[in-house]
Amino acid sequence: MKATRLVLASGNAGKLREFNELLAPLGYDVMAQSAFDVPEVEETGLTFVENALLKAREACRVSGLAALADDSGIEVDALNGKPGIYSARFAGEPKSDDRNNRQLLEQLADVPPGQRTARYWCVVVLMRHAEDPVPVIVQRSWEGEILTQPRGEGGFGYDPLFQVSRLGNTAAELDATQKNRLSHRGRATRRLVELLSSGNPA
Ligand code: IMP
Repeated sequence: MKATRLVLASGNAGKLREFNELLAPLGYDVMAQSAFDVPEVEETGLTFVENALLKAREACRVSGLAALADDSGIEVDALNGKPGIYSARFAGEPKSDDRNNRQLLEQLADVPPGQRTARYWCVVVLMRHAEDPVPVIVQRSWEGEILTQPRGEGGFGYDPLFQVSRLGNTAAELDATQKNRLSHRGRATRRLVELLSSGNPA
């Protein structure tokens, strides 16, 4: 049987490999959007889901294929949900995990433990074509608390400051398999796979 081609609306090689590992057994071939010269879209949405849809729609439009996209970030309660959709550039351009983490610690300097609750969010969408009126949308969160000092060497982004609820470890202290099992991204992706394998994604 010929694999069904899907485009991944991302330039991230790690994401491409992970989606392929999950979707190849279901008969999908996930292709990089660079193979179709999909330009980067401006993420003008005000929510993760809007931005994921903008990316997927552009990938569909240019490639003529179905497209997958994801968008993610961290929501901190004491900051009224910031940095949210601006997580990657919280401390401005150019993007820097280090500066983002320092900015987060500064903004939470007066917030005591117990009130530093936060959660990662990941939204994964699948659009069958650019005018798809019923895209598949999955949103998953991962609860935790922002520490006052970084711990751990793994992961990326805010992981050294993100202590996972009910675990005691930071996300940067988990290995890739553990993180993938628990994380917002791992769980959102697996749910999308479940929906696709049930044959009734909408
Ligand atoms: P994007 O989804 O690739 O646009 O990434 C959004 C930003 O959210 C990243 O640059 C990180 O700052 C943050 N983020 C999202 N998921 C994670 C995670 O699993 N660990 C750490 N930071 C994350």
